[in-house]
Amino acid sequence: MSNATLKKSALVVSAHSADFVWRAGGAIALHHAQGYDVHVVCLSFGERGESAKLWRKGNMTEEKVKASRREEANAAAEILGASIEFFDMGDYPLRADKEALFRLADVYRRVQPHFVLTHSLKDPYNYDHPLATHLAQEARIIAQAEGYRPGEPVVGAPPVYCFEPHQPEQCEWKPDVLLDITSVWDKKYQAIQCMAGQEHLWEYYTRVAQQRGVQAKRNVGITSSRDIIYGEGYQSIFPRVTEDLA
Ligand SMILES: [Zn+2]
Repeated sequence: MSNATLKKSALVVSAHSADFVWRAGGAIALHHAQGYDVHVVCLSFGERGESAKLWRKGNMTEEKVKASRREEANAAAEILGASIEFFDMGDYPLRADKEALFRLADVYRRVQPHFVLTHSLKDPYNYDHPLATHLAQEARIIAQAEGYRPGEPVVGAPPVYCFEPHQPEQCEWKPDVLLDITSVWDKKYQAIQCMAGQEHLWEYYTRVAQQRGVQAKRNVGITSSRDIIYGEGYQSIFPRVTEDLA
């Protein structure tokens, strides 16, 4: 039996180096606390499209911006308890060849995730985000195929959850899962503060977490007395398989 089948794990596919923090930082910290190995793949550093504050400093190069974003993302992942790797595929535009897809499929094979978190299926404000979702899904399917690197253990059918985009309505994103992240909010906010290049989003994503927390509290089962303050919303792509409807 491999380690992957003994220990639970999760995979997060982030288009840019900070997306996983705003959108899934709570889920990462929560599952880390529950004993999961959580692995984050950043397809790009968001060096062109999501690093405006660094560029405005002047005297910047793409290499300097990437180095700074890598440092921030490493620090955030460490706080959340995740391992992280960077594909450095470029952003604005993010583009993938077959090799990148196989590289991601190999991550699936290695991590054997019990669930996957990635972007929404649509985002008219950002073409990199849905492309990341597409790649995450396509790599998942390749990793399931017996004919891809025959002999290696294939992956099962881990649920895929789309995390909250910046403009949910325009992205046709609607949460069907609300995750209580109250117990790890301090970790998420600490990780958010690593993103010095996007300080304008710190307060915004605190409000998003509070709003999802209120919604979670309103939808929680009748027997629960949990005091939910902070939440994260997710939209699942596949039906959830369960033996318990409560
Ligand atoms: Zn992004």
